[in-house]
This record gives sequence, structure tokens and C-alpha cells, in this order.
Amino acid sequence: MNIYLDIDGVLLANDKMVANGAKEFLEFVTENHNCYWLTTHCRDGNPDWAVEYVNKIAGIDTEILKKIKPCRPWATFKTEAINFDTPFLWLDDDLFEGERRALKEHNALDNMEYIDLAHDPDQLIKITKELQNVKIMHMSHALSYLMGAEEIKDSELKSLGIEIKNTTKDGDRMLVIPAEKLSSYIELVKSKLTNGFWNEIIGEKEITFIFKFKNGHTKEYKLSPENEQEIDALCAKFNNEPPDKTANVYKYISDNNFYHDFMMKHYADLINRKLEK
Ligand SMILES: [Mg+2]
Repeated sequence: MNIYLDIDGVLLANDKMVANGAKEFLEFVTENHNCYWLTTHCRDGNPDWAVEYVNKIAGIDTEILKKIKPCRPWATFKTEAINFDTPFLWLDDDLFEGERRALKEHNALDNMEYIDLAHDPDQLIKITKELQNVKIMHMSHALSYLMGAEEIKDSELKSLGIEIKNTTKDGDRMLVIPAEKLSSYIELVKSKLTNGFWNEIIGEKEITFIFKFKNGHTKEYKLSPENEQEIDALCAKFNNEPPDKTANVYKYISDNNFYHDFMMKHYADLINRKLEK
């Protein structure tokens, strides 16, 4: 979508200080959206001063700032510069009555994010999180809770476009894998997973298990009700647990908080089905 950015009171808390989280916010939006300056600092369509100004006060790389394009010129109201035919978000700490009216006419009042940093200094941090969550919701992706893979570096995952949502104290990583990178990820896991561990990868349509035995041999399964007991037995063996504890593997997986909502969305029937004894 298009994102229109004011500077003063939005990216900058004041004329000396950057807003909390502005750098991470800009890194994310310039990477994932079309960003436009919508500020008096770039009213004539030349973005140079806006870039220089934010760079000087916020210390944000000009590389990032140069990805923000000048918006079309406006005379009285900033809404003149907004393209209402394309989904957009406009961040500003001011909203004139004429602008409010224009937004309302286009049924777009919710597309304006009113910024009030005096009231909430962390507003940009929250907006970044929301935008990231929206992205994940819409992206076709898989999830994987990666344990026992010291050999796999964060940088290797990131270079595949994989997002590390969280890392636990023990070094377990919670990964969001773009659908088109799934096979590269599976290859990486097979070659570098620590012996004696397994990794499961939860896609929207299929769940992959990769077991790496103590001797380094790997075995890959696509989970189905037919091979569920075999997978269950292997999980139990790898964990030194009795197998019956995990008889419904779909349910077992969904008990992991990281997978829970995603599993309920895509596999509710299999999780809730009754197993014959
Ligand atoms: Mg302002």
C-alpha cells in the first residue's frame, strides 16, 4: 500500500529528537510499501531537504530515506496529494478540518493514523508491529520452531528471507518462512540440524517432519493420519518419552503456542478428530 509520511511530530518527536522506533519503522515500511513524503519539507516535489533534515536529526541512513518518494504537490490540504484509488496509510500529527472532510468523503478516515507522541511516545513502535502482523497474516508462509541447530546461523536464515520472530534463552528460534523458500529451508535443515533432533515445518497445506538420527541419517515425512503413529513413535523416541502421550500429532503440535493459531486456522478438523484406541 501507499504510506504517506509527515516528519515533524511523526518521525521526529521535536526538532532535536527522533521518535522512538522511527528507524525500525522506516526500515520496514520502505522495504514493504510505497512510501511518500507528505510534509511541508517536501512540498515542491524535491525530496532532498526532507532526506537531509531527517538524516541530520534522527541519524537515519540516507539510503533508507531516499526510498521515500516525493508525493504530488498540494495547495491547501495534504489530502490533495493522496491517491484515494490505492490503499494507503497516512501518518500525521495534524489534521485540518478540510482534510478530515476529504478523508470522510472517500470513506478513508481510518486510513489516517493520528500521531500524538506526547501522549504515546511509542506509537511508531506499535504501528510497526501491527504492519508486520498484517504482512504475516497475508503472506503465504510456514512456521517452524527450530531447536538443535547451532550450525545454522541467523544470517543464513535471514538471507533466505526467513523471519526470526523470537529466540528463546536456550537458542530455540521461531521462524516464519515464505512459502517459496520452503524447499531451501528444508535442505538447510537436513544438512545442518544437530544429530538426534527433529524439526517440523508447518505449512498451510502440509506439515513436514525431518528427523535427524544420531548417525546423521535423515528421514522426511509429510504428516498424514496414515503415518501419524510412526511419526509419534519417532518423536517419543527422540524425546525419551512414552509414545501414547502424543497420539494425535496435530493436537500435539498445536499445543505449541507459536503454532497454535496457525494450526487452528488450517488444521482444526484434524486436531479435534477422535482417535480410535
Ligand atoms: Mg507534523
